[in-house]
Parts: sequence; structure tokens; C-alpha cells
Amino acid sequence: MINEFAKTHNLKKYQVDQFNIGYYKTLISSFDELSTWSKQLREDLKKELLFSKLTVEKTETSNDGSTTKVLFKTGKNNYIESVLMRDKSRNTVCVSCMSGCPVGCIFCATGQMGLNEILDEQEILDQILYFARELKKENSSITNIVYMGMGEPMLNLENVAQSIEAITDTDKLAFSKRRVTLSTSGYVQNLRAFLGKNLGVKVAISLHAPNQKLRDILMPNVSKNNTLIDLFEVLDGYVKDTNKRITYEYVLIKGVNDSISDAKELVELLKGRLALVNLINYNENGCFEFKKSDNTLLFQDILLKNGINCTIRKSYGGDIKGACGQLSVNYIQC
Ligand code: SAH
Ligand code: SF4
Repeated sequence: MINEFAKTHNLKKYQVDQFNIGYYKTLISSFDELSTWSKQLREDLKKELLFSKLTVEKTETSNDGSTTKVLFKTGKNNYIESVLMRDKSRNTVCVSCMSGCPVGCIFCATGQMGLNEILDEQEILDQILYFARELKKENSSITNIVYMGMGEPMLNLENVAQSIEAITDTDKLAFSKRRVTLSTSGYVQNLRAFLGKNLGVKVAISLHAPNQKLRDILMPNVSKNNTLIDLFEVLDGYVKDTNKRITYEYVLIKGVNDSISDAKELVELLKGRLALVNLINYNENGCFEFKKSDNTLLFQDILLKNGINCTIRKSYGGDIKGACGQLSVNYIQC
């Protein structure tokens, strides 16, 4: 974050290192705490750079204490949400890469907002650093980071990739690549470019349908120009090169994509592929008439019996609208 500042102030490498240690490792809570720097340099830093480009507007914690959702405001007065989910020894942070989302999948509350703003690298990092600082107060730390909040990462490719580089950089957050997962609705060309960067993070694809026709209905803006055939060409190539498994997210919506025949079709689609299906029961969100499926266990059973790895995603923070697909800022009237 201090590249420009380092240039204009002719900082030495050791001073940049001191900054990185304070900001990313000690997790200082203001530039005043950067005690390794002179007072003068700290004052200049405060004048020229914001400690965080995001400001906290509101925090909400679920009744069971497992989930905290934070509403942040950007410098352009747009809102984003980020979520911390605690489960035993895991602390997973779900970050947004946009305020709203331009893709408009017909079941997703974030898509209903449209796009307000894409976030830059710093704004993505600010969300992660916020939770890292909060957890540090409890002598704890983030264990997993998921790019599964508001927005479509492949439509904000450079900022997302730079933020991943910063969190995994050993001089900065030094976070393990294997504990970072990025979810995308599947913009094929950008996905190819992203995978080509070899950032080493896990990739999840929002599939949600076992065939092109149903996917076109559920995710029309992405699906029609990024067909399953093209998507699998990129993914199969990636798996062949890296031997890394792809996660396929499948949101189960009652009467829409949760029948026995849908499950069987999904088996056929993924047979022979290195895949994990992560079923997400639909989180009702007040925006749409769609309902939760009653078929989750049966659907999983069909996949497992036919040799497809399949897990069911635990839902967090439903009571504070912090679960998958519920992130939408409340001024949107659903
Ligand atoms: N835009 C990216 C990142 C968002 S991740 C993507 O779509 O992959 C959020 C995940 O929750 C996606 O898999 C999304 O399709 C899913 N989702 C959206 N609305 C949902 C809902 N109401 N209930 C459950 N999952 C939902
Ligand atoms: Fe955007 Fe993902 Fe929601 Fe689709 S599912 S509208 S891509 S956030």
C-alpha cells in the first residue's frame, strides 16, 4: 500500500519492511502505533494515506455468536458487507470485491442491487485486516479467507489478484494459499487469465444447474456467453495441468433444480472429473419467491452413491442475513 509513498519519500528498504511488519504482521490499529518510524514520517504518512479506505458503519452478531457481519462504507459512499464465521478452531472471513454485483443471477440478493462500485486492492485488503485486528484482540487469527461476498471476482480480476498476492506475500500477511478460496460464476476468458496467474488458491464455480438450459434461466447474464462447454474446457485443462480439484457450488432451490433427475444429470456432467460438489441449501432472502429445498440429503445421497464427492455447506448467520446470497444492503427494498 505504500509504494507511492516510499518513492516520494525515498524510503529505504528497511523502512518499507518496518512498515509491512507493523501494518500486516503486528496489525497496528493506527499509523501512530508505527513506533519503528520517526514521528515526522508517521505524520507525513497520516497526511498522505488513509489507514483504511473503508469505514465501519455497523456490526451485527448472530444470536449464537458464530457470525459477525460488518457493513462498511467506501470513500464513494457505497456500502459493502463482509462476514466472519467462527466454527471451533476455524475463523473464516468472507470478503466482497464489489459493492453490489452486475451479474444479476435471478436468485441472488446481491445481484438485485446491480453494480455500485468495484473495489480496489486496498479496499479488499481493508476487510481482511479489519477482522485480523479484531481477532487479534482475542489472541486469535483468521484461518480461512473466501472471496464469496458481494460481487463477481472475474469482473474485477486485477484488483482481486493483487489482493491475493498481498495476503499470501510472506512480507505481508503470509497467509497460506491453500486456505484461500475464490468463487466465480464463471466468466470463461477472465477465469482462464486468472488461473494462468497460478496464484495457488482454491477455485469454486457457481454451477447451480446440471445443464445449459437451466443455467441460462438461473444465471442468464453469465451463462449465455460462457457456456458449460467453454467453462469445462478451461477447467479440465487446469485440472490436467495442476491435478487440483475444482469445487462446484450448487444452490438447491425447491422445485427449480433439486429433483432426482437434476441430481442424476449432475452426476453425468461431473463423472470422470476431479470435482467436489458443495451443496448450499437456498437461503431465503425476502427478495424472491424461491424456497429452500427439502431434498438436500437425498440429492447428496444420489451424488455420493454415484461416486461424486459432495458436501453440504453449513449455513451461518441466517438471522442477521449474513448467509450466502443474503448480502445486500438494507436500503435495497426487496
Ligand atoms: N459472484 C461469485 C461470488 C459470490 S459467492 C459467485 O457467484 O460465485 C456466493 C455464493 O452464494 C455463490 O455460489 C452464489 O451463487 C450463492 N448464492 C447466491 N444467492 C444465494 C442464496 N440465496 N442462497 C444460497 N446461496 C446463494
Ligand atoms: Fe453476482 Fe455471484 Fe450473486 Fe450471481 S451469484 S449475482 S455472480 S454475486
